[in-house]
Amino acid sequence: MKKIIVYNPYNVFSLYKLFLFYSILKVTFGKAELIKKILPENLYYYLRTKIIKKNVAKYEKTDITLFKNVEIETINRCNNTCGFCPVNKKQDIRTFKRMEEGLFNRIIDQLSDINYSGEIAFHSNNEPLLDNDLANKIAYTHKKCPDAFLYFYTNGVLLNAEMVLKFKKSGIQKIVVNNYNNKKKLHKNIENLINELNKLQDVDYPQIVIIIRELNEILNNRGGNSPNKPNSHFNHYKYFQDVPCSLPFEKLVIRPDGKVSLCSQDAYGEITLGDTNKSSLVEIWQGKPFEKIRKTLINNGRKRLPLCEICDY
Ligand code: SF4
Repeated sequence: MKKIIVYNPYNVFSLYKLFLFYSILKVTFGKAELIKKILPENLYYYLRTKIIKKNVAKYEKTDITLFKNVEIETINRCNNTCGFCPVNKKQDIRTFKRMEEGLFNRIIDQLSDINYSGEIAFHSNNEPLLDNDLANKIAYTHKKCPDAFLYFYTNGVLLNAEMVLKFKKSGIQKIVVNNYNNKKKLHKNIENLINELNKLQDVDYPQIVIIIRELNEILNNRGGNSPNKPNSHFNHYKYFQDVPCSLPFEKLVIRPDGKVSLCSQDAYGEITLGDTNKSSLVEIWQGKPFEKIRKTLINNGRKRLPLCEICDY
């Protein structure tokens, strides 16, 4: 594949294009400032909760014996200062951790043993390029899980064309760059990256999607932990009280120490549903803690579930 797509969600024309690309839409729907501006708040949340309910209803009827996305946080640090993120570099309270090679390989070996062909993301609540060994980890994953879709999100601060080609060689299929800039412009290194890649004639590179974002956007409240969206001020979570959430039906989020978190919005890893050092990925996914969360979400919505009850994701 050889493709660079640049989206500016603040631009109406680009927004139209977003609607055409459902995968991007799913990620961006809750985030695009423009959508929030053009829809009255009640309607915006009505639509969002409708979509979530529909998604989860689908899982009640289909087989969810296996996750369809695995998110591996190989290092728990970021190098940016986004106002919406509980673990931006100014506010991160987590103890520094980087996933050991042995643990990483054991996780991938398990995915290989079950011929996993879903998505594997090499990011979570972090900047994945801070892990110097990321390309090797991706290469190992590609070798062991050739049918899986490998990708990661980055803020792009450290990214250049040479790295993109290295990741391509490792087996990555897609890189999404969240270009955070309050002037809604591409960073110089991202402009250079586009120019360099466009010059390449016979060299293939992964799909690159660049999304122009603002550093201080007000997004979802991340289980009540988003620094620029205190619940005392933005009580949007009230719209979601009776609404389930699709993440525990889809995604397995693994922290650098091997613990499995409730979801990708649980930035501090406050709710642990299993430990890959002690149980297999499938055991954790099918285990009681996950089951209990899913049942509660379906039967009672988010009420009385820690984090979920104050979450507007
Ligand atoms: S905290 Fe709960 S409601 Fe919020 S995203 Fe995670 S699982 Fe979903």
